[in-house]
Amino acid sequence: MTSQSLLALVLTLLVTGCGGGGVSTGSNSTGDGSALLPVGPLSLPTPSVTGDSTSISARTSNQGHGIDPGETWEDHRYFLNPHPEPGFRTIAGLRYTILGRSDGITYGQAKAGPTDTLDVDFIGDHWLLLPHELRAILERGGKAWTYRLLEDPSGDDRITVYTDWASNHCPTANTACGGHRLLALKKSRWFENGALVTDLATWYRGRSIGVPVDKDQAYFAAHEMGHVLGLSHDGSSRGERVSSLSPYRLMGKGYNGHEIVVPHESELVDLAGKGYTRAGDYPDGSPDNPFETYSYAAWGEWAEWGVKVVRELSFSVSSPAVDNLRFDAFVEGPRSTEPLGQGEYTWRGSLLAVDTLTAEPVRGRATIELSGQGGTVSFDDLTTVKYIEGPDADDWRESSLEYEVRLDQDRLRFTDDGNRVVGEFHGPNHEEAAGTLNDQVNRIAGAFGGKL
Ligand SMILES: [Zn+2]
Repeated sequence: MTSQSLLALVLTLLVTGCGGGGVSTGSNSTGDGSALLPVGPLSLPTPSVTGDSTSISARTSNQGHGIDPGETWEDHRYFLNPHPEPGFRTIAGLRYTILGRSDGITYGQAKAGPTDTLDVDFIGDHWLLLPHELRAILERGGKAWTYRLLEDPSGDDRITVYTDWASNHCPTANTACGGHRLLALKKSRWFENGALVTDLATWYRGRSIGVPVDKDQAYFAAHEMGHVLGLSHDGSSRGERVSSLSPYRLMGKGYNGHEIVVPHESELVDLAGKGYTRAGDYPDGSPDNPFETYSYAAWGEWAEWGVKVVRELSFSVSSPAVDNLRFDAFVEGPRSTEPLGQGEYTWRGSLLAVDTLTAEPVRGRATIELSGQGGTVSFDDLTTVKYIEGPDADDWRESSLEYEVRLDQDRLRFTDDGNRVVGEFHGPNHEEAAGTLNDQVNRIAGAFGGKL
């Protein structure tokens, strides 16, 4: 061993301080949580929008939030509850399971990617006090394992993890420690004055070992989650290689310099040996391996409209995860080629949307009223799904939204002044109208449609 690598080993041992076993869950100490600042409301950055009237794509960073769309998009009972019927329909390559039918409109739900993998549900007052950025890092530390796992040893597809302070549970002044269904953090290492520690000097208290803090946070989060799932240190403390592709295991202690932020395949084999069911590889967004995707769609006789939330969460062996959210709104189906005649028209149907502030699904009734040169497009009974201790239907921020629209000169399309609402007609006699909603002030994007 060279003197440089010896120095690196010594420094790493000094700062690792990770407890793997013997953590106590019986403490009734309140810890040092009282000094924390309140956590601000959930508020995703304004997404950047691309696309046109029939296909909108909006992308925002989930890096500081760790929003798990599975919590609010997985269980359709809270979103749509018409009368179920068997069957499915494929729209733009996604297969929609039929949820039911209402007023001549059929509703469906589609999922793709790792939507059925093991889910980690963090609980505890401690968790609710943590800044969103830290929750996001820990949540991704969990996903680094659970995207590769389907069920825990008892056959459940969800595990509950209690979170608390290290001082209540960890045997020494650890960065963090993980035990069975418990994750504990040393407050001063992770954040200061209610904000995540992002500088090397504070994270290491003046020691410099030349590795970026964000990588170390990702390493500690994923490593401790390995303990939560039941793995102990693997005895590779002298840096023994376990394969030529990935020289070090995430649960190896003390040598790897914190560059490893995802489990090694052999560690997933170890979990399978403990009774966990393995899933496929990490999603990469390719057609064969899509990102975690949830979608609702509706269709009449001619038009199809819907909305998607895609968690573009990708892992690599040596960098912190990249975590973006994409919202897609789309309208499909043959369009009317004849101009809309004079007269009064009212199409009634639905809006399927996403709250771009919180990534929660939003639904409502849609009414499109046109006469002369224009009219209104209104959405009411707006409802969302909130997750607190489980998913539940809730009123959206606004109970209704209304937009004045104008027919284009060719009377084949209608738009409002700000192009927030853009719609077209479907069917030989304009039997259906459908379009997209992109309101960046009210932070909602989606698609709507209705029948005459
Ligand atoms: Zn450990």
